[in-house]
Amino acid sequence: MTYDSLILKIRWWFLKRKEGLSRTPAGSYSTDRPRLRHVTCRNCGWIHFAITREYAEAEVHRFNTFFRAQTQEVKDAYGNKESWIGEYEFCFVCMQDDFYETPAEDAPRGVTLNPIIYEDF
Ligand SMILES: [Zn+2]
Repeated sequence: MTYDSLILKIRWWFLKRKEGLSRTPAGSYSTDRPRLRHVTCRNCGWIHFAITREYAEAEVHRFNTFFRAQTQEVKDAYGNKESWIGEYEFCFVCMQDDFYETPAEDAPRGVTLNPIIYEDF
């Protein structure tokens, strides 16, 4: 097994866990727990995963609490700026805020996606 394939396997396993999929005795994956839902940007087509506003606000608060307690050197390593809710409202590619639920066949598996606030499922 090459290093790259090992990394891919670990990332794939991590994403499966993150999406709440559990392994069945037969070796396939079931969706007995809710999995991440995806949304597509209407402007540029980029796919994100959906989170609630409540979760996004908690993430902003959690990061900023951490950030404010850091030294200037650490703050610089984080771009010297606090998090804000807009990071979860706008597509990071085109900065638009209009999304629709991604059809299941469009959502790629095993890739890194960014979170976006979307609660209209
Ligand atoms: Zn976009």
